[in-house]
Amino acid sequence: MSFRSEPDPSLSRSTLAQDVSAALRDVPDFPEPGIVFKDFTPLLADAVLSGRVVDDLADRHRGGVDIVAGIEARGFVFGAATAYALAVPFVPIRKAGKLPSATHRVDYDLEYGSATLEMHTDAVKPGQRVLLVDDVLATGGTAAATVELLRRAEATVVAVEVILELAFLSGRDAVPDVVVRALLTS
Ligand code: AMP
Repeated sequence: MSFRSEPDPSLSRSTLAQDVSAALRDVPDFPEPGIVFKDFTPLLADAVLSGRVVDDLADRHRGGVDIVAGIEARGFVFGAATAYALAVPFVPIRKAGKLPSATHRVDYDLEYGSATLEMHTDAVKPGQRVLLVDDVLATGGTAAATVELLRRAEATVVAVEVILELAFLSGRDAVPDVVVRALLTS
């Protein structure tokens, strides 16, 4: 007779969140005064913990997505690894002028000035289910611009997944009609 029970998924996710929280480094006043930069490199340096993050992401979307899209540059890391884990293609969302072929372009506002994101026009086919991955959700401007890019390609955005959401910036309000999931919230 065994008393072993199935692992509680919510418990393991909260343990994962605690471990990831401990692995992120706050860098005050980077890249400019007043910003506390969330440095993911200590997490990336921990191969086992990084693998747990990818498994957690992939397990939630197995069978439910056709493509993973990642936002330049840190969204490429966990996005590409999640695409590999799910055995689906990876699509890079890049800053202006980096992609060599025909692109969809979306301009969006930053706190000071504006920026442009691009995606190859042949990267996603109409109706494909896309999971969007990035490291941090701050104001949500980047996520909203990427959702707009994907919709121009007539994709279905399944969810926006981030490792960390800076809740005080209300970024999820910028993508009100999309499921947003964060491993950690601060
Ligand atoms: P936002 O468009 O304001 O949601 O900003 C999100 C993008 O900026 C993400 O791609 C993040 O990589 C980056 N970002 C914003 N704030 C931070 C922060 N405090 N630490 C690290 N990355 C950040």
